[in-house]
Amino acid sequence: MNSLRTSQYNLRRREQRARESLDERFQRRSSRNAADRLRRARARSDQQMANSVNSQAETNVSEHDCGMMTEICNFCQALYWRNELNSSNKYTKCCHDGKVRLPNLAETPVF
Ligand SMILES: [Zn+2]
Repeated sequence: MNSLRTSQYNLRRREQRARESLDERFQRRSSRNAADRLRRARARSDQQMANSVNSQAETNVSEHDCGMMTEICNFCQALYWRNELNSSNKYTKCCHDGKVRLPNLAETPVF
């Protein structure tokens, strides 16, 4: 069934190609070639990307050091690394300058 459809499709395409002009043939082939070139270029760049990622993972990795958590929020005393400052030079990921205040934790029940 499926191969019958495929052969019918191929027959129809062959008839269409037999009827097309030289210009139409040139256009069809050059667009197909352009698509091929694009696909090959993408495959090449994907391969290069994979190669560079692999080589970096093996040879070009330096240890990252954040330092100590020495910065402290003035409102809730949360600890921060120095580079966690936001664009206005504040540490706000904890309580947004004291705007968020959570109730104390409830006492744990007796076991
Ligand atoms: Zn805070």
